[in-house]
Amino acid sequence: MKYDVIIIGGGATGTATFRDLSMRSFNVALIEKSKIASGTTAASHQNLVGGMRYVLKDPIVAKECAEENRIISKTAPDIVGKNNNYFVGFRNEYTEKALKEAMKLDIRADELDIKAVFKDIPSLNKDLEMAIETDDKNINAQKFCWLNCTSAIESGGMLLENTEIYKIEKKDRYILLTSRGELEASYIINATGAWINTIARKIGVTIPLLYSQGTIMVQKALSARGLQYLHEPSDADAYIVHTGYGWLGTTSTTINSPEDAKLEPWADEYLKEKFSIILPNVKYQKTVKNFTGIRPLFKQKITENGREVSRDFRIFEEPEKFLHIVGGKLTTARLMAEKISDEICEKAGNSSKCKTDREPLQETTK
Ligand SMILES: Cc1cc2nc3c(=O)[nH]c(=O)nc-3n(C[C@H](O)[C@H](O)[C@H](O)COP(=O)(O)OP(=O)(O)OC[C@H]3O[C@@H](n4cnc5c(N)ncnc54)[C@H](O)[C@@H]3O)c2cc1C
Repeated sequence: MKYDVIIIGGGATGTATFRDLSMRSFNVALIEKSKIASGTTAASHQNLVGGMRYVLKDPIVAKECAEENRIISKTAPDIVGKNNNYFVGFRNEYTEKALKEAMKLDIRADELDIKAVFKDIPSLNKDLEMAIETDDKNINAQKFCWLNCTSAIESGGMLLENTEIYKIEKKDRYILLTSRGELEASYIINATGAWINTIARKIGVTIPLLYSQGTIMVQKALSARGLQYLHEPSDADAYIVHTGYGWLGTTSTTINSPEDAKLEPWADEYLKEKFSIILPNVKYQKTVKNFTGIRPLFKQKITENGREVSRDFRIFEEPEKFLHIVGGKLTTARLMAEKISDEICEKAGNSSKCKTDREPLQETTK
């Protein structure tokens, strides 16, 4: 089979790119080794980030998240939660600076009357001094991926799940030898997240990555609303509420390769202990399950650890017409797709513009 573009990897990034390029009239195939959304996307906290978390550490990412939050909330309302998160904490130098920066960056951070918030959420620690409403809310990440695929297929895209790539050859075009036979394309996009190097190495390329493992604990929610600890980004600072369940996370443990990821047995108690500063009873609420995911972060310096590395994204072209996309967040997947699709358009001389920032992403009645 012959295509203009083959995308490898069916997570948030790959499926959003599948949709974007198909809508711009490219003949596109998406190859996923397993099922759609079986990597980090499904193992994430599934918080549609509003930007507040990153205002001091990473203002560019904070702005990108705020803008994407607005776009996704508007174009895909069926997969986004209705309740905005509260950031809660104590009055100190950090919170003061963060509020000022949020205002400067035009990131929503509306201070609330803490006494009213205690009435609304009785399980909160009564020593907390402040509460801020932000645009952070939960998102159904799997559905985001499926809707992207449905939309891409409607525009003529080909979805190939459970497909293994054995070998990649470069002739005039790229030839992929797969479990479905030979596939051919002018452009390849490697969107395999934490597994990016398993594909990159097939054509002699290595991307400098830091693998940061994060574990999440799930329990019956103690609050109807997502809660985040307003302080420097660290472990156990977010309790995202999905249909009656509180997802508390995360840890951030550097591992050498995706294959080394395994459930961290200490994480459950550690997360609960740390977050009890916000919800004291979190320690006594039964855990329903724990799960773990791997953040593929682009490594700029040798000394960086998982919390220091920026959440921004990079696009590499190596070799020619073979693009790799790495880093970013679930929240910015649509934007990442737009940028890499713009690059393909420029190379292919296609002048069409991105439409995913305004076309509804929803189930169709067809
Ligand atoms: C614990 C944790 C919590 C997080 N929480 C949030 C959050 O709340 N909000 C947020 O915005 N971001 C969050 N993130 C970050 C976010 O989840 C990721 O940035 C994003 O999901 C990455 O998506 P992706 O499509 O690039 O990768 P993935 O979702 O990993 O997709 C890659 C896909 O490629 C496939 N694949 C791999 N190898 C091959 C191959 N050889 N052939 C074909 N297919 C292959 C995989 O099966 C997978 O489906 C979190 C990350 C972690 C680890």
